[in-house]
Amino acid sequence: MIYDALIVGGSFAGLSAAMPLARAAKKVCVLDSGQPRNRFAEASHGFFAQDGVAPLTLKAAGREKLAAYPTVDFVNDEAVMARHTRDGFLIETLRGEVLQARKLVLAYGVRDHLPDLPGLAERWGGTVLHCPYCHGYEFLNQPLGVLRVTPMSVHQALLISEWGPTTFFLNGEDLPDADALEQLNTRGVRIEPAPIATLEGEAETLDGVRLSDGRLVPLAALYVATRTEMTSPLGTQLGCVVQDGMHGPLIVVDPLGQTSVPGVFAAGDLIRSMHNASFAAADGMMAGVAVHRSLVFGPLGM
Ligand SMILES: Cc1cc2nc3c(=O)[nH]c(=O)nc-3n(C[C@H](O)[C@H](O)[C@H](O)COP(=O)(O)OP(=O)(O)OC[C@H]3O[C@@H](n4cnc5c(N)ncnc54)[C@H](O)[C@@H]3O)c2cc1C
Repeated sequence: MIYDALIVGGSFAGLSAAMPLARAAKKVCVLDSGQPRNRFAEASHGFFAQDGVAPLTLKAAGREKLAAYPTVDFVNDEAVMARHTRDGFLIETLRGEVLQARKLVLAYGVRDHLPDLPGLAERWGGTVLHCPYCHGYEFLNQPLGVLRVTPMSVHQALLISEWGPTTFFLNGEDLPDADALEQLNTRGVRIEPAPIATLEGEAETLDGVRLSDGRLVPLAALYVATRTEMTSPLGTQLGCVVQDGMHGPLIVVDPLGQTSVPGVFAAGDLIRSMHNASFAAADGMMAGVAVHRSLVFGPLGM
């Protein structure tokens, strides 16, 4: 069987892309390996009408709604290879399944590269955070830290000070330039130059950051801007143009979600630098509608 559309990634972007196609009674397959990026967090915040719901509960609800449409199939597996065929595209999965479709939507998201500091990875999504709009409110007015990972971390420190008294940890790196120092000073951000030895606290909670000179800086949460990479090479295998974004590489799309390869659309974290479940869902809806229109009218202009 050749599906009208095959969607790789079944989370916020992928399930949203599938919905308009399902509602147009198109044959859709959602292929998903079950590892959404926010699975480390207990609750997802800010999603319309679903603030505070657990990420996997949200995803299951999205999937359940879609499963009500008889033209939608789900495959729980990982896409490992993609290529063009005469009729569209072919995907091979890790378990050896071969799936074919006229159109593809890439919605497989990104993964985070965390700084290599003892005690950091196990607190990711709990008390080690990247996005204040997602999890900042839970630590409002408590002592906060920002780890310097790039020169751009200064901007994160300036922003985070909106949520509470903030320490900017240089972790042994150079002081920011005079202009940045003045801005940090104006916003009351404390600068801690010493290297970090470890993050301390019971389980996921954070008591503070232990510095290499033995001092403990008490903190409730530490913010880190991660580097991201796409979770799969599928887009590049197909020849999609990729460009550098603020946090890592991104697939280039037009406003309809069409990539540089005709018939291949993309949505969610892998097309944008600002990462958020609502943006991913909106991207998915756009791509789903665009796929449908391209099925009806033929290729859309870039
Ligand atoms: C710790 C943390 C907490 C967050 N909290 C929030 C929050 O509170 N609110 C908010 O709005 N945003 C939050 N975000 C951001 C949010 O997680 C992302 O913006 C959102 O998940 C992006 O959706 P997506 O569908 O593009 O990708 P994802 O949700 O990451 O989904 C990608 C899906 O594709 C699947 N996949 C990957 N590779 C393959 C493959 N080769 N074959 C098949 N399937 C594949 C994965 O298993 C996954 O199910 C958080 C992010 C992190 C890291």
